[in-house]
Amino acid sequence: MMGIILLGPPGAGKGTQAKKLTQAFAIPQISTGDMLRAAVKAGTTLGKQAKAFMDAGGLVPDEVVIGIVKERLAEPDCGKGFILDGFPRTIPQAEALDRVTKELGKEIRFVLSLEVDQNDLMERLCGRRTCTGCGAMYHVKFNPPKAEGKCDKCGTALIQRDDDKEETITNRLANYNKATAPLLDYYRNTGKIRSVMASGEIDAIYAAIVKILR
Ligand code: ADP
Ligand code: ADP
Ligand code: ZN
Repeated sequence: MMGIILLGPPGAGKGTQAKKLTQAFAIPQISTGDMLRAAVKAGTTLGKQAKAFMDAGGLVPDEVVIGIVKERLAEPDCGKGFILDGFPRTIPQAEALDRVTKELGKEIRFVLSLEVDQNDLMERLCGRRTCTGCGAMYHVKFNPPKAEGKCDKCGTALIQRDDDKEETITNRLANYNKATAPLLDYYRNTGKIRSVMASGEIDAIYAAIVKILR
């Protein structure tokens, strides 16, 4: 069971690395951010609950996020493993994940801690561009698409996420330090944490992760 948690601040490269891993290991990426954005777009009850928190760069309440992850992990494609990207983000979420994995007979194998200099995160997030068609991520400077504003993989126009604005980013980084960074201590004694230096080339970071997993 290859259950993996990608832990790291907004902009650390969780989504970028998760997308590469999901292909190589044939296990799904479970991104709570992507699922919440899809719910907002579809205008569901869940989306309505989550929108204001997301717009402000705050965290969506634990019970809401825990509910969606619990349902998602029970789906058949998570049978061989899964990559959690952006969950857990609080201690109560980590505790809930422990309960849920146990109930479902699943196990977290590695907690990959993506470590990036705090000063780099703002630049990464301000320059991030996202494909609304296939979810691929780009960066105007560090990982530009071949044709400006267009996804290499599916040709859809790229957008800048509403919450990738300086003021909202500041809130998200503050929330990370307050609510999510303590998870490193939570997992410290489990023997599952692996530090990954996540500055530098995307492919070099990916290679370092694969080395840990194999
Ligand atoms: P990033 O890529 O910047 O880390 P995400 O796409 O993971 O951002 O999340 C976007 C927003 O969705 C967060 O700012 C937060 O409002 C909400 N969100 C995502 N995952 C969680 C979670 N596990 N707990 C609470 N809120 C979440
Ligand atoms: P997260 O999911 O952790 O918020 P993303 O994977 O969305 O992070 O990456 C944030 C931004 O930084 C994106 O624009 C992405 O293209 C870019 N990025 C990802 N990895 C790197 C890297 N190693 N060096 C420079 N930019 C990167
Ligand atoms: Zn695309």
